[in-house]
Amino acid sequence: MTALALSRIHFPITTLGPGKRVGVWFQGCSIRCPGCVSMDTWAAGKGMTTVADVLDTLAPVVSSADGLTISGGEPFEQSEALAALLRGWHRLGGGDVLVYSGRALEDLARALSELDGLIDAVIADPFLRAVPQTVALRGSDNQRLVTLTTRGVELFSAYEAPLPVGERALDVLFDDNTGDAFLVGIPRPGDMVKLAAALKAAGHSAAATEDVR
Ligand code: SF4
Repeated sequence: MTALALSRIHFPITTLGPGKRVGVWFQGCSIRCPGCVSMDTWAAGKGMTTVADVLDTLAPVVSSADGLTISGGEPFEQSEALAALLRGWHRLGGGDVLVYSGRALEDLARALSELDGLIDAVIADPFLRAVPQTVALRGSDNQRLVTLTTRGVELFSAYEAPLPVGERALDVLFDDNTGDAFLVGIPRPGDMVKLAAALKAAGHSAAATEDVR
């Protein structure tokens, strides 16, 4: 039974890859990019579950999902769980796979070769707060989108273009059990801070992870 530290799962998400996707956020990241908007995923050892349990959760929605996006946290810090999850996803008949990593692309070469055929596209390199953000799917323009399969080329090449102004979007998702709301997607610099301030002014409890770009 392969252990996995999990932050959350959402379906459907529409802002991190093509179509209606399953989003899986790994818990734990030691990279600690200044300005990261996912600081809640940094702590290791939280959200312990198993890959089998995650696949049981995903199974009912696989046929409705166009693809899977794995983010975090740093998925490659749980390489065994990542590989098991990807194999399970494909056993279930799941669609394309996009994986985010804060590691440099060069440092992922060995891991990606071991996962050959299981990932269609990867977005690599750390988030850099001082670098502009104009390209789709990336938090900062230094991050590289690499297609790894024929399907990846077909589905993700279009994302190399700059994101047109007015086409930025975030998914808003609610946790029915806790009442929490999550925003999914790539916010513009300062968006999270502005949103938290607006919600607080309206009398809601709101917290934003650090984003002082
Ligand atoms: S941006 Fe990604 S890699 Fe960087 S600290 Fe945040 S979760 Fe980790």
